[in-house]
Amino acid sequence: MPDATHFDAIIIGTGQAGPPLAFRLAAAGKKVAIIERARFGGTCVNTGCIPTKAMVASAYAIHLARRLADFGGVVNGQIGVDFRRIQGRKEEISAASRTAVEAGLRKLENCTVYDGQARFEADRVVTVADQRLTAPMIFINVGGRAKVPDIPGLEKRTVLTNSSMMTLDTLPRHLLIIGGSYIGLEFGQMFRRFGSDVTILEHSSRLLPHEDEDVSQGIHDILNAEGIRIEVNAKSIDLDRYDASHILVAAGRRPNTDDLGLEKVGVKLDPHGFIEVDDQLCTSTPGIWALGDCNGKGAFTHTSYNDFEIVAANLLDGDHRRVSDRILTYGLFIDPPLGRAGMTEAEVRASGRKALKAVRPMTKVGRAFEKSETQGFMKILVDAETKLILGASLLGTGADEVVHLLLDIMYAKQPYTVIQRAVHIHPTVSELIPTMLGNLKPI
Ligand SMILES: Cc1cc2nc3c(=O)[nH]c(=O)nc-3n(C[C@H](O)[C@H](O)[C@H](O)COP(=O)(O)OP(=O)(O)OC[C@H]3O[C@@H](n4cnc5c(N)ncnc54)[C@H](O)[C@@H]3O)c2cc1C
Repeated sequence: MPDATHFDAIIIGTGQAGPPLAFRLAAAGKKVAIIERARFGGTCVNTGCIPTKAMVASAYAIHLARRLADFGGVVNGQIGVDFRRIQGRKEEISAASRTAVEAGLRKLENCTVYDGQARFEADRVVTVADQRLTAPMIFINVGGRAKVPDIPGLEKRTVLTNSSMMTLDTLPRHLLIIGGSYIGLEFGQMFRRFGSDVTILEHSSRLLPHEDEDVSQGIHDILNAEGIRIEVNAKSIDLDRYDASHILVAAGRRPNTDDLGLEKVGVKLDPHGFIEVDDQLCTSTPGIWALGDCNGKGAFTHTSYNDFEIVAANLLDGDHRRVSDRILTYGLFIDPPLGRAGMTEAEVRASGRKALKAVRPMTKVGRAFEKSETQGFMKILVDAETKLILGASLLGTGADEVVHLLLDIMYAKQPYTVIQRAVHIHPTVSELIPTMLGNLKPI
């Protein structure tokens, strides 16, 4: 091994936290090394959010085309599906982001890009290919990968994950999806709309068991109405029962922490392999931070990016931002989407506090009616004493955007009455939020 090259900071992984951190550190005059073993941009850009949402958009367009007559449009001929074009469009969109991340890093002053698998060799020493790098600050942003469950017979089948789905070149005749959670449901609905038969197996008693029962049921109904077969309580799976042409496992994710040599530097992992971090994302070893999915504090692009913001604020701005200041929020990008913020109703009830709830079906939202997209409902929970919003589950057209008006008032720590007095644009889904808040009832 050659002599070590010394840096101020080493970043492992180019997911959603590593690249912006490289930019901030380099701009602050630090000498930075960033290491990537596969494709720049990580999961979100290559096999996660961006490509799946591009495919969701294709699925939506095809679905709408099939409903064209409802809106007075006329199609002379059949609505067909060009799966290669769907994949090609998705790849163009994904590649644009990947190229931008890679090009940005490679031309960044004060930053050296290394290609290859990074491993800790000793305290403050990382190896990549035949290089040894040292730095007093090391940031781990290694992300995760699909977990493959232990199901008899699965080892004899070709099993797809979110990664290999991206390179499929033929449309599955019958896609069997193991896992009825966020990733499985998004793939399930899009492939049904592309024309595949789809069966979703979920081992819990309902889809999305972390959501409230009314939300799970609403989503179940939406997917069922499109002809997706859903089997819940699927505990012992007999793959031969299903005549599946393709099997997708979407049964959770595991962190990429097993091949990093973390044991050599004493970085502690939890029982699931996530890196233990404190509120400012420091690991158990001084000088090493963990950001993004690998720390188990979030599983989203926005949480990984927020990890970058927290680390940068603490190290460079003297601003003591913390993970615990973050409010849980995420979307499920089926159509119509689910926008979530804060607590579920089940969590509010379990907390024992006095709370109020407002629910409105999307059939009573003018904009949804005008668009003929009236599936779903919106639910908001409020603390009866403080009037602060505790949580929201919005399932309906535009819900992935509307949820932010509730999220922002939660961050502002202002009572719901502020929204009640705001005048919203007509006709939008958001205009009904003040009206809903006028109909809060004790839970
Ligand atoms: C199908 C799917 C859909 C999703 N949709 C959404 C969504 O709509 N919205 C949302 O917010 N989130 C979504 N997510 C989650 C989101 O993609 C991740 O939370 C996000 O990418 C954050 O990842 P990260 O920054 O932790 O690391 P990643 O993006 O996973 O990047 C880690 C990088 O580190 C590299 N690496 C790993 N180990 C090493 C090593 N030893 N040496 C060098 N490099 C290494 C990897 O190659 C990778 O490039 C989705 C995920 C999936 C799978």
